[in-house]
Amino acid sequence: MARYTESVCRICRREGQKLFLKGDRCYSEKCAVSKRSYAPGQHGQSRRKLSEYGTQLREKQKVRRAYGILEGQFAHYFELANKKQGVTGENLLTLIERRLDNVVYRLGLAASRPEARQLVSHKHFLVNGRKVNIPSYLVKVGDVITVCETSRKSAKFDAILGSTEGRTVPKWLDMNRDTLEGKVVAFADREDIDIPVEEHLIVEYYSK
Ligand code: SF4
Repeated sequence: MARYTESVCRICRREGQKLFLKGDRCYSEKCAVSKRSYAPGQHGQSRRKLSEYGTQLREKQKVRRAYGILEGQFAHYFELANKKQGVTGENLLTLIERRLDNVVYRLGLAASRPEARQLVSHKHFLVNGRKVNIPSYLVKVGDVITVCETSRKSAKFDAILGSTEGRTVPKWLDMNRDTLEGKVVAFADREDIDIPVEEHLIVEYYSK
């Protein structure tokens, strides 16, 4: 499957915001956004005023890249969100928050969303006792996510748990770090989204 090959820090710099794609480094002084808070490339430091379309596009790209979702799949999420009752922008954000890779990240079982995606793909997790290796799998209320038996003894998970210690688990999830078991206790609300986003701009982008 096609993935981005661009340096992830360039993605944050392009969007002008920390998207927390690299785990520990994102919280350190080494963060590229902290060191160079302008867009990458030759003209990165010349500030251009974005058009209305450009502003909407950047907001869509920011969310898409923060969650590591490809263009077609993101458009599909928008269609689903648009068909649901309620506010489309909020529907969109709370829908993508249900992705298994995001849930793994939010439970503190991965240092970043890209790492969570890789761990899910490599079959390190069970959902309700069954191995699931699809990062876009949408969790439901009541789902139980566990680290599979062989993986939980690995040094990698020790390191991950060390780096995510102290991270706040959102209220719609429940995490037991002793048993490495997480549970979906509710669907996320708009207030649970952890990146600053003006979702109405994304709705306007797709409404053209
Ligand atoms: Fe790189 Fe993380 Fe900083 Fe983004 S937030 S620029 S991924 S270190």
